[in-house]
Amino acid sequence: MKKKKTERKASSADKRARDHRELGQELDLFSFHEIAPGAPFWHPKGMIIFRELERYARMLNDADNYDEISTPILVKKDIFEKSGHWEHYRDNMFWFENPRDKNEVLAVKPMNCPESTYVYNSTLHSYRDFPIRLAEIGRLHRNELSGTLGGLFRVRQITMDDAHIYVRQDQVEEEIVNVLKTISKFYDDFGFKVAYRLATKPKDALGTKKEWDMAEEALKKALGKSKIKYEISSGEGAFYGPKIEVHIKDSQDRDWQMGTAQLDLVMLPEKFNLSYVDEDGKKQKPFVIHRAIFGSFERFIGILLEHFDGALPFWLSPVQVSVLSINDKVFKYSENILKNLKSRGIRAELDLRNETIGKKIREAEMRKVPYILVIGEKEAASGKVAVRERGKGDLGARTIEEFLKIAK
Ligand SMILES: [Zn+2]
Repeated sequence: MKKKKTERKASSADKRARDHRELGQELDLFSFHEIAPGAPFWHPKGMIIFRELERYARMLNDADNYDEISTPILVKKDIFEKSGHWEHYRDNMFWFENPRDKNEVLAVKPMNCPESTYVYNSTLHSYRDFPIRLAEIGRLHRNELSGTLGGLFRVRQITMDDAHIYVRQDQVEEEIVNVLKTISKFYDDFGFKVAYRLATKPKDALGTKKEWDMAEEALKKALGKSKIKYEISSGEGAFYGPKIEVHIKDSQDRDWQMGTAQLDLVMLPEKFNLSYVDEDGKKQKPFVIHRAIFGSFERFIGILLEHFDGALPFWLSPVQVSVLSINDKVFKYSENILKNLKSRGIRAELDLRNETIGKKIREAEMRKVPYILVIGEKEAASGKVAVRERGKGDLGARTIEEFLKIAK
């Protein structure tokens, strides 16, 4: 994937950035309907953004040696009884009695964690197998009150860039270093400023003091090795382990908690009887790192739309290039340009309407298309296109080959 670091241009309009719901409608990306509270209907253009983000998440997973899994959306409630969610979290879940079998209560998964252990536990593991990195782009449902739902920021249906990394206790530090490296690269690509917090042992923690001391020390060392500055949120860790939280500030100076690296000493390892065989043939307990780079696709797309005021980076733009003809004498040439761009994998569209070129340019600009190629008789005669770049204006006449070198 070709990508350049995205510098967001500051403008006087920053303080009045529009709501992502308004942008979503204007750019024809998604809609919400009464019939499905808290769940977006993705339109073709919105789905391109979703898919590109998914592709990027998978590319990072592949580069970091993750294996991808997919676990059921609908499972028996027993799994959540085992994890403790049934007791503490049931009101936030969707669940129902099977109308064909009163003894079967099914739940729609609110998280992937417990199910990932079934993949882990389906084979015996030796100390040599680790780390085992299981990624899942899982579709989750949480029973948020309808009054609290708000566009893509608070939804009932969440798609998560989730992963569970099974590690030996001596591998925690190294693996956290890897996760932090990927996270900082990811946010750097978008030009976001990232702040890190280390959330430590809460009062009601499970697990031994020795394990907690070791775990907190390993996370601190990993942050230190990564040369990352961080704040400590004392006592804010989960009951089952300490975590590193990733926060970003968007163009509106709003703080968002995005990714996490959550070390799990107890919940999955003990409640789901995870084990492996060590060098001496003895059974040992692995730890698990729950990892997300940006968390929810829905929320992240909402944040991106507002942050860039709809002017997404080239690689995420639903339409990357708009080809505009000045008159009907250049139809054939314009069509060939479109064909050429599409064959190079560029998402391009062609506007042959009998409108003034000024109007066509304005409309393409309103739709935040990164590049506009204007074609008149002069361009057609010289085998070129007149290039306009979003935010920069006229770049002059170029051949398609020259244009492809600058388009990113
Ligand atoms: Zn998890």
